[in-house]
Amino acid sequence: LRNEESMRRKLHNTIQELKGNIRVFCRVRPLLGEEKEASTSLPLSFPDCDDKNEIELVQSSENALGKSTSKSFPFKFDRVFAPDSSQDAVFDDVSQLIQSALDGYPVCIFAYGQTGSGKTHTMQGPDTISASDMDADILGIIPRAVKQIYENTGKLAERGWEYTLEGQFLEIYNETLQDLLAPTGRGDKQASDKQAKLDIYQDNDGHTRVKNLTMVKVDSAERVHWLLARAAENRTVAATNCNERSSRSHSVFTLFLHGKNTLTGESSTGVLNLIDLAGSERLSNSGSSGDRLKETQAINKSLACLGDVIAALAKGNRHIPYRNSKLTHLLQESLGAGNSKTLMFVCVNPSPGSTQESLCSLQFATKVNSCQIGTARRQAA
Ligand code: ADP
Ligand code: MG
Repeated sequence: LRNEESMRRKLHNTIQELKGNIRVFCRVRPLLGEEKEASTSLPLSFPDCDDKNEIELVQSSENALGKSTSKSFPFKFDRVFAPDSSQDAVFDDVSQLIQSALDGYPVCIFAYGQTGSGKTHTMQGPDTISASDMDADILGIIPRAVKQIYENTGKLAERGWEYTLEGQFLEIYNETLQDLLAPTGRGDKQASDKQAKLDIYQDNDGHTRVKNLTMVKVDSAERVHWLLARAAENRTVAATNCNERSSRSHSVFTLFLHGKNTLTGESSTGVLNLIDLAGSERLSNSGSSGDRLKETQAINKSLACLGDVIAALAKGNRHIPYRNSKLTHLLQESLGAGNSKTLMFVCVNPSPGSTQESLCSLQFATKVNSCQIGTARRQAA
């Protein structure tokens, strides 16, 4: 059994590397409520029904003479999820990477897209989940991942593996870190003082850590509900309009998976990062000033920096510009380790009014998709 388990780990990793250590999935959400009546024809279509990896965007515009012209942009990703795709179907394609984290690899899963395109729905599901929702269809990747990890650690225990799981959850707003798992308390002076001192540093073993950040032992699959509830509460404390605030910040959920095999003495540490990025929409240049302008600049800079880091890794550059943003600095270890695995969801709002933003998102995703890191790149060369 022991040999079989080592073999399974090796084979699983080989398959993951062949699929590429950077993958891009596109997910288009359904039209909601009023959007349905307002939209007669969609700017998006899904040409290839078999491979489920193509999407085409049509941009229509009227010229000065009132004649309408349209231009089509075809895109291809590792996987395209049409609006009718369930959370279950999406997770099906993600679960292999969760297994990689259990096997001791660093994994990053990002959700990218404009506000309202379905990032939070994909990563988390509804804002508040009760324990009785554990099997509900609406759950997103975070609760499903934790559940899968618990099911698998049970099986691995038969082969001598014991796991301890620790979680952290933070938000990056205007390049400052906020602890989403800190003890809550409105107007609590001490709590807000502590928030100010979060700092990214390298520990003695070279691991990226955050000073003063709350680490929570995740000792049951249900614990994730407590964790998400506390994060939601901390978000409301931090902002009067917490929906708006959370769309302007990156939220990073990190699970450390420490495994030890009591039979063989082997050990492994995997890291699973699930990241709900800030809305990628660009504000029109006119009319944005003050705080809004500062926010937008911080978001643009950090999203661009994420793209730069991925591109630099893919090219095998000596210098990787992790330090150019808090997000990439925080994720340095998970993105750059030789065996790390990255998946980016590009989330798309299908409404005709969002065509321009959708085009930008798909173009950003295409740039990421053209990157290959690690073994897959060497084999392709
Ligand atoms: P974002 O986090 O990108 O701003 P949300 O995840 O909050 O977007 O999604 C915006 C709205 O669309 C929410 O009301 C959400 O419930 C709904 N939604 C998003 N994706 C889906 C989907 N695949 N199916 C049904 N509703 C969805
Ligand atoms: Mg959101």
